Amino acid sequence: MEEQKSEFVTRRFNCQICGTTHDITLNKKLAEGRNRYPFHHIYLHGDLKDILTILYIDKELQIRGVQTELMSREDIFSKEQMVEIIEKLVSEIEHLREDYNILFDKYQSATQGKQESPVMSFLKDLGEGIGDFFNSLFGTKNDS
Ligand SMILES: [Zn+2]
Repeated sequence: MEEQKSEFVTRRFNCQICGTTHDITLNKKLAEGRNRYPFHHIYLHGDLKDILTILYIDKELQIRGVQTELMSREDIFSKEQMVEIIEKLVSEIEHLREDYNILFDKYQSATQGKQESPVMSFLKDLGEGIGDFFNSLFGTKNDS
């Protein structure tokens, strides 16, 4: 008998919105190389793909928390919901920025004293891109 090493795991969660127990298939790679656990996994489900689903998943790919929100046809573009979605995206971007900073520091200390490499220029560009995107969401105005 040979050991079956699947790339995927199936997890189960209860959805408050549609009152259903869902089975979700997660790629094991999803949990790799994160700086923070549990991490967010955001997607839409439902027949109309109108249920915003945020799963909080730990290192072992166990679901630690579930947040669901119905986005009805009428108000799918309502400002309030957009703001909520943007807030969630922004928290993802913040994490991305933190991850990026760690990666940048690691790379910088690993290549200290050496000539600037293409990877380093790529990282610098990426960092500026993330910063620009963040600023474009909030403007560059400071509260003071
Ligand atoms: Zn559901």
